[in-house]
Parts: sequence; C-alpha cells; structure tokens
Amino acid sequence: MSTTDAVVADTEMTEPVHQTLAERELLPDVHVVDAGYTTAALFVTATERGMELLGPAPHDSSRQSRQDQGFSRADFTIDWDTESAVCPGGHRSFEWWEQKHHRNGTPVLKVFFSAEHCRPCPKQAQCTKPPSGRRGRGVTFLPRERHEALEAARRAQDTDEWKARYAIRAGVEGTISQAVRVTGLRRTRYRNLPITRLGHVFAATALNIIRIDRWLTGTPLGSTRTSRFEALILAA
Ligand code: SF4
Repeated sequence: MSTTDAVVADTEMTEPVHQTLAERELLPDVHVVDAGYTTAALFVTATERGMELLGPAPHDSSRQSRQDQGFSRADFTIDWDTESAVCPGGHRSFEWWEQKHHRNGTPVLKVFFSAEHCRPCPKQAQCTKPPSGRRGRGVTFLPRERHEALEAARRAQDTDEWKARYAIRAGVEGTISQAVRVTGLRRTRYRNLPITRLGHVFAATALNIIRIDRWLTGTPLGSTRTSRFEALILAA
C-alpha cells in the first residue's frame, strides 16, 4: 500500500510498488491493475522482473487514432533491421531518428516519409495534411522493446481469454468501492501525508475485520448496486 499526494499519477506508482514487493520477495506472478497503472515501459519492466502486468494497454494517442480517422500508427509496418517503416501506400520512410518525447522525456522514434511520395499519393487525404517541405507524413513510435510489448498487450486484450482472466479485477474494484463507502477513503481528514497514510492503514484493517466477520458469520456477498441514474431509467 502506498499513500501519495493527489497529483502523483497512478503510472508513477506501479514501479515503486513492484520495487517494494521485490525487496520483500513478495512479487506476485501476475499483478492485475486498471488502465491507470500500465504503460509500455511498465509492461517491459514487469516482464524483466519475471511477472505479468495484467491490465488494459494505453490507447494509441496519435491524432488519427484519437479521431478514428485516417491511418494510425498500427497501419505502418516497422522494419527494425533497416530502421525504416513502410506506409499504407507502400512507400518506405526516408528519415528515422531517436529523440526524447517533448512532454515526458520518454525515448521515442521519429519516422518521416518523403513529401515526394505523399504529395501525389491517392491515400493522402486519409493520411496527412498536404506537405509543404520535403517531409510528408511523420509517425512516432516507441523503441522496439516497448513497442512490441505494447502491441502484444493490445492484441491480447482483444481476446476472450484475456477478458476472462481480467474479470478478477472486479474484486479489487469492489474492495475499493467498499473502502470508499465504509471508510470515506476518497477524502482525507488530515493535513499531512504520514497521518493520511496511517488513516489508510486503519481503513484497510477495518475492511479486513469486516470481511473476516462476514466470512465467519456466513453473510452473503452484496449484490451489484443500482446507480441513481440506472434507477431513474428503470423507473421510466
Ligand atoms: S500520404 Fe505518404 S505516408 Fe501516407 S500513405 Fe501516402 S505516401 Fe504513404
């Protein structure tokens, strides 16, 4: 368990949690997480630790994919050996270099196709704006290991087997929901981190005691709650 300031992104906590578990020799074979805790880099480091990070892979953030219009990264074939890519029009890229992502410093590969190919290309409207310089369509890829880990995770999550395995995550969400409802976990009553963390330890202990009591007394599992919005729909 880890308590941080609210501004810390979930993805920043995956690796410290794994590090702590590794130091205590408590790393699980599979860590089932929600989408907030996965990145391509985290899939790779989890594998290096000999464990599986099981959670939804981040979406393709390219403009074409976000807008569901035109060719996205997945439509380009990468040739790692020659450090080039082939576009949906069948042309090979003419520039390939590595740089740091402007927002988070992650290493990325910038790949460009020649404007000579893009200008007359019949697929240009689906691909890129009319090029003005010597560069046509540009695509950003992750370095090979991360790219392949991400693509493998995206392929896996479309399968029924992955969905069946991931269904166990509902138990974690149920626990979080119970913690929020029973202990008011969403908001802290305290002004500093150490005491907030202590509050979290008490909340977790209380949940364990409640669950042990329900187990021993044979209290049946609660049914899925109906949200107020759903209740309105049902009443209509
Ligand atoms: S516009 Fe350029 S990159 Fe896109 S398919 Fe045509 S030639 Fe390839």
